[in-house]
Amino acid sequence: VTLIRRSLRDAAPYEPGEQPPPGEDWIKLNTNESPLEPSARVGEAIRRVVARGLRRYPQPQADEVRRVIAGRLGIDPAGVVVGNGADELLRLAFTAFAEPGDRVAYPWPTYSLLPVLARVQGLSEERHAWPPGEPLPGSFALSDAPLKVLTNPNAPTGALVPCDTVGEVCAQSPGVVVLDEAYADFARTDCAHLVERHGNLLVLRTLSKSYALAGMRVGFAVGGPEVVRGLELVRDSYPVDSVAAAAAVAALEDQRHHRHIVELVIRERERLSGALREMGFTVLPSEANFVMARPPQGSEASGLCAQLRERRILVRHFAHDPLAGWIRVTVGNPEENSALIDALSELGVRA
Ligand code: PMP
Repeated sequence: VTLIRRSLRDAAPYEPGEQPPPGEDWIKLNTNESPLEPSARVGEAIRRVVARGLRRYPQPQADEVRRVIAGRLGIDPAGVVVGNGADELLRLAFTAFAEPGDRVAYPWPTYSLLPVLARVQGLSEERHAWPPGEPLPGSFALSDAPLKVLTNPNAPTGALVPCDTVGEVCAQSPGVVVLDEAYADFARTDCAHLVERHGNLLVLRTLSKSYALAGMRVGFAVGGPEVVRGLELVRDSYPVDSVAAAAAVAALEDQRHHRHIVELVIRERERLSGALREMGFTVLPSEANFVMARPPQGSEASGLCAQLRERRILVRHFAHDPLAGWIRVTVGNPEENSALIDALSELGVRA
């Protein structure tokens, strides 16, 4: 242990959701992946890249991907940074916009990667309590922390903060506000347009969810000149490999398939939420591709997850307050969601 930096010696790495052994038939509803495979064009694009050869480095800033994203958003490609997943861009933001010893503010609970990143960068956390079902705490906007992160829709609750509120947070904050919109495609609104008005806003998106490319690791950031420059100062030399870049372009160009994924997820989210409520679960309204649910009296979350796991169904459960006793279920395809509902009813969960 003495080889590791003093401030990290008792740290814990990010704990991802369980990955079942490859090739086995599990119903995996624990990491908010897409219920469908990506566009068929993605496979074709990947085969073309491989046929062309892999000995050259990719474009350092994934210019082709940037151009397609900028075209879709109607902005200048200079305002887009592409990364190895939104997670990498979050890490870059923690490195670029706060000195070790500074504070980073976020409402809590939120994305569980953030405390890990804070620790690595030596930032002290300022957690603003945000109980499930309540509005964003006003203290978050008022904080003078040099870096703030707002996940919108939030994970793991699925709550959406309106753009007016996001704009107020930006206006009141002395430093950078990172708006993690990983799940925004499943929500009624997104706030990317606010970057024109707020030079301290950095919006993050991912192709892992609504474009079904989690296996490829592509995310992007949108922001004004100074925040983009900040990310560029700390980014990796070639963060997006040639295969991932080609896959990303192909997926972004097939908007029909993207809309199909989004519509399916929203429809199934509402069906799943309704079915869980009928069984007596308390279900938070979700604007994302997952739902947070608390089992009715008589059933207990961790036991239920273990019993589902015996049936090869993976969901995520939370051990710490204020989410202790809650289960997060990723919206799967119709068969997967029905299998989950049937399993819960066989396990005797009822109102
Ligand atoms: N942000 C949030 C809020 C997430 O839940 C996730 C998925 N774990 C990510 C970012 C990661 O996105 P990516 O796969 O692009 O790294």
